[in-house]
Amino acid sequence: MLPLFSAFLDLIFPHRCTFCDSVSTEPVCPKCAGTVNFISPPLCNVCGVPFKSDAIKSHTCGDCMKRKRYFSWARGVLVYDDAASKAIHRFKYGHDTTYSRPLGSIMADYPLEGFDLIIPVPLHIKRLRERGFNQSLLLANAIGKRQRIPVDPYILKRTRWTEPQVNLTGRERKMNVKGAFEVCGDVRWKRILIVDDVYTTGATVSECSKVLKRSGAKEVCVLTLSRTAEL
Ligand SMILES: [Zn+2]
Ligand SMILES: [Zn+2]
Repeated sequence: MLPLFSAFLDLIFPHRCTFCDSVSTEPVCPKCAGTVNFISPPLCNVCGVPFKSDAIKSHTCGDCMKRKRYFSWARGVLVYDDAASKAIHRFKYGHDTTYSRPLGSIMADYPLEGFDLIIPVPLHIKRLRERGFNQSLLLANAIGKRQRIPVDPYILKRTRWTEPQVNLTGRERKMNVKGAFEVCGDVRWKRILIVDDVYTTGATVSECSKVLKRSGAKEVCVLTLSRTAEL
């Protein structure tokens, strides 16, 4: 984009801090910078849950020891706390896709190596019509653009309508998304990064990883904007 045109757009649609909605040139405004919690080690090498105590080293958590994971690793950038939850709510339900700029920018620098493809967690067509956009695709585009990795929003489809996961238990979440996704393209031998906004129990990204692996993907990893911390 031409710099002058870009400056003009910034004037009409100024960047806003998604955490407090004030005009800001930074992805997180100076006022919110101290309240936003980025996830840092020690954490689970597999599911990325941050551990409370700094005295222990990163290792595989008890939950990941017990259950089969179809992704090699999952990482979240922000702790899913009050600040992150408000920001994501504003982004998803605010009918304003410009919030994807600061949030995408928070994710875009995450160190990634050797990925062939980024796949956003797809929405069901009914949900996409309701919301008008797929928040995960906007985040995936920001990462893909910055790190020059192709983004494909069509290769994975949500073919079955599912109820929102929010009030369900871990087991119910798993059942709710079982069989909800279908691979519609060639993913064989590809290293794939799945992108989503929130990781709670990992049920949705696990199901996506499972179908991708079963369709021949070499490896699947997950990056989410935020993630719940250890309870
Ligand atoms: Zn702010
Ligand atoms: Zn784990």
